[in-house]
Amino acid sequence: MSSTRAAPLDLIDAVAPGTRFRLFAVYAEGMTPDTVAIPLPPGTIGPGPSDSRMYVADAAAKPAPYDPPTYLPPYEGALLAPALPDADGHFDRIPLDTPQFLAAHLYGSVRHTLALWEAYIGRRIEWASAAEFPQMELIPLLDWNNAQSGPGFLESGLWRGPDGETQPFALNFDVAAHETGHQILFSVIGVPDADRIGVPFLAFHEAFSDLIAIVGVLHFPSVIPRLLAETNGNLYVLNLVNRFAETSATTQIRLASNTATMADVAGITLSPDGEWIDPSGQGRNQHAIAAPLEGAIFDCLVEIYQDTLVAEGLLPATADARGWTREEVEASFASLSQASARALRRFDAGFAAAVRHARDQVARAMAHAMLTIRPETLTFDEVAARFVEGLLEQGNGAALEAMLDHFLWRGIDPRPFLTFVPAGSRRGPKIFRPWTAERRPHCASCDPGAIRRAGVLIRAGHAAVRHRIVAI
Ligand SMILES: [Zn+2]
Repeated sequence: MSSTRAAPLDLIDAVAPGTRFRLFAVYAEGMTPDTVAIPLPPGTIGPGPSDSRMYVADAAAKPAPYDPPTYLPPYEGALLAPALPDADGHFDRIPLDTPQFLAAHLYGSVRHTLALWEAYIGRRIEWASAAEFPQMELIPLLDWNNAQSGPGFLESGLWRGPDGETQPFALNFDVAAHETGHQILFSVIGVPDADRIGVPFLAFHEAFSDLIAIVGVLHFPSVIPRLLAETNGNLYVLNLVNRFAETSATTQIRLASNTATMADVAGITLSPDGEWIDPSGQGRNQHAIAAPLEGAIFDCLVEIYQDTLVAEGLLPATADARGWTREEVEASFASLSQASARALRRFDAGFAAAVRHARDQVARAMAHAMLTIRPETLTFDEVAARFVEGLLEQGNGAALEAMLDHFLWRGIDPRPFLTFVPAGSRRGPKIFRPWTAERRPHCASCDPGAIRRAGVLIRAGHAAVRHRIVAI
């Protein structure tokens, strides 16, 4: 495989040709990690683990988190023994309770995320700071209640729970993938000038970094079967109910949508010195503002899933709740769940394929948005338009109105920015003109000073969400 090309998706999902790692979809005591393949041939990932793009520096006692531009890699203190591949070149036999497993888990999480998004973007993703730091340094553990990434590094501390329990963030795929997401976005989209980095750009970064992580975990072999089993396959109905009700059966579901609208987060701003201001007194920041965009994109994923089930005949029309009112859905919740459970038992492979299809459609539409938006003028409305265009490009024209609705009820309006124009007859299936917008070949603006400023602003609001240890 050429080092300048992205590995195809099927190579990542098929464990056989790659190098095996064990990764926790969600870490919890007693859970079994998934075996995930990194699309590099066994034998090409060195001790650490390490490769041409990243290496683990397992610091024995790192005194403080990196603080650009004064404190940056490389880490020059004492190191623990590196994780080593087995005789066949794999890293999936390292005992779970060792520092070497932590190192392999962090490397595997970051590498898996990078490989996936190189496949979705369709090209190699160079780190935005590659000119200064060709390899990213990964620090698995330091005594710090947070995790962060910046120019040339990604480091993770230790989560401390209210009852004194601790958990290394390096075991939390979500955290590592989210941080990798920030670095991917810096590389693919670039940044505005340092003095023009504003609220929409920072909130967009959080929404897409979360979604990058969600797409990543949906490639773990155990996750989709478990998600379907726990929901009886009725993601759409649960999503609807979740949107309407504070309490529902969705508390166990990691991927459940949120109910946030732009009106809910209006007024949260950033002061000139980089402090977040929430007039409601709730101390909210860019993560709260990200929620409506993130939720709408997740709603689109569920819409595509539902559409596939119905189109493939896997779910009876009587159990398709699209177009129903809130009252109708809530009144029929039990029977809808039963119908879905029956269909899932008959067609479990088809249900899983429908989730994978929706996942890939959404990821490719996100990639399309990432390749076509401009960091300096970015708004949620425009991101939504580019995302919807990405879905239309993949043949989802019939669902255009539903897609738009998922954004509109949350106060995000893609319509003024949509450049796809319906060109088919009113009676027939909707047809759209092919996409012609320019896609950037590489980073729009990778000014190191602006990226450093964006990194500082992102890190400022990060600590509060690191307790997000969730269960599937
Ligand atoms: Zn973040």
